[in-house]
Amino acid sequence: MKISQPFNKLTLKEYLFYIENHKKYTDFNTLGLYRSIIENKKLTLGEKIEVREFAHTYFVKFFEFLQLKDPGTYFDVITLGQELTKADESQIWEDIKTSQQKILTQKRIKHRSFGIYSKHDCGRDDCPLNGLMIKKGSFFSYSNMWFHSDKNDYSAKYKSIQRKADRKNAKQIIRKELDVQ
Ligand SMILES: [Zn+2]
Repeated sequence: MKISQPFNKLTLKEYLFYIENHKKYTDFNTLGLYRSIIENKKLTLGEKIEVREFAHTYFVKFFEFLQLKDPGTYFDVITLGQELTKADESQIWEDIKTSQQKILTQKRIKHRSFGIYSKHDCGRDDCPLNGLMIKKGSFFSYSNMWFHSDKNDYSAKYKSIQRKADRKNAKQIIRKELDVQ
């Protein structure tokens, strides 16, 4: 069976139903689910949190892995509705970095050919993302870049280069991302 409608258009009731019955749906995508919680415009904040908590009861392991796989989404999902100071944000990034190292160590032990990650390095000493691991050339590393603390500062030129590279590598990268799950 297929869900055949985008997650970000679901109502609370539909979310709960599909999460509970996810095994019956061949197109159920867990990353898509978590991403959609942020994007969904039908849900109130309280409902988004309810969906998140319900999703965690099934997919918490997968979710923890997002710290490495898609830290931008992870960050957004855990901070839903929270008012964060710069210091709060920095602390969360530090925690994510610590978890990333743990995940990397465990994964490398299990799978010898585990993907290659590189450290975020935008050249700004004050960037809270310095040292954050991002999959090299990743489709998702670009989409995560918006999370830069100073978005306007992020050079348009780099973005366009990255986009070109993404288009070229997207298929291959998606295949790799799927392997990692
Ligand atoms: Zn940076």
